[in-house]
Amino acid sequence: MGALRERFWERPLADLSAEEWEALCDGCGRCCLHKVEYEDTGEIEHTNVACKLLDPRSAQCTDYKHRKAFVPDCLRLTLKIVEDVSWLPATCAYRRRADGQPLPRWHYLLTGDREDVVRAGVSVAGRVVSETDAGPLEHHVVEWDDDEEDAA
Ligand code: SF4
Repeated sequence: MGALRERFWERPLADLSAEEWEALCDGCGRCCLHKVEYEDTGEIEHTNVACKLLDPRSAQCTDYKHRKAFVPDCLRLTLKIVEDVSWLPATCAYRRRADGQPLPRWHYLLTGDREDVVRAGVSVAGRVVSETDAGPLEHHVVEWDDDEEDAA
């Protein structure tokens, strides 16, 4: 793994190395949840249903390295995707940096503690159900509170 430059997160996203890009993720788990998209309107609703590889208790991927082998459509965030998708939470470090905003103050790169995303109420840990247990997605539509952005 290459060295992470000092305060690399303040650089433009396009300037980050692959390691720095990966390190930007706060691990909230929001992008590992299923969405319901309505074909006629294009409207997207959020659910509390997690990918089968996500540990619902910790909100961490149980096999991040090999996830594509098990979940071929797992979204690998790129700069273009970050700029294009509307559903990344307002707290997401990629979205914030793409919008020219600083990292939230609870982000582990600033605090040194990866559990701060949980303390800030942003992680989905303990608040989701695995797709293997969930049943129909339409029964699990939720509104995630993005107001934690105010804590940034
Ligand atoms: S929503 Fe953003 S910060 Fe949260 S897990 Fe996904 S990529 Fe990481």
